[in-house]
Amino acid sequence: MEINNTQNNSRESVESSKKDEPIQVRATISCPSCGYKKKFRNQFLRKDLELLIVAVKVFEWLTCNKCGDLLKLDLDFNF
Ligand SMILES: [Zn+2]
Repeated sequence: MEINNTQNNSRESVESSKKDEPIQVRATISCPSCGYKKKFRNQFLRKDLELLIVAVKVFEWLTCNKCGDLLKLDLDFNF
C-alpha cells in the first residue's frame, strides 16, 4: 500500500510539471465504405481542451464527399 502511494505521488509531480506543454492531437477521418482517408494534426494547450471537444463534435457529423456515408473519426493523443 505504501509503495503504491509513493508511485502515485511521483507520477503526479511529473504531470504537473508538464501542465503548460501543448497536447499533440492527431485525428484521422476515414470512410468505411469507399476507403477515403484524411489526417489532421493539431496542438492544444490543456486549458484549451474545450476547443478540441467542440471540434470533435463537428467531426461527428462529417459525411464522405464521395459516397455520403458517415465518416469514422480516430483520435490520437500525445500527452
Ligand atoms: Zn466514402
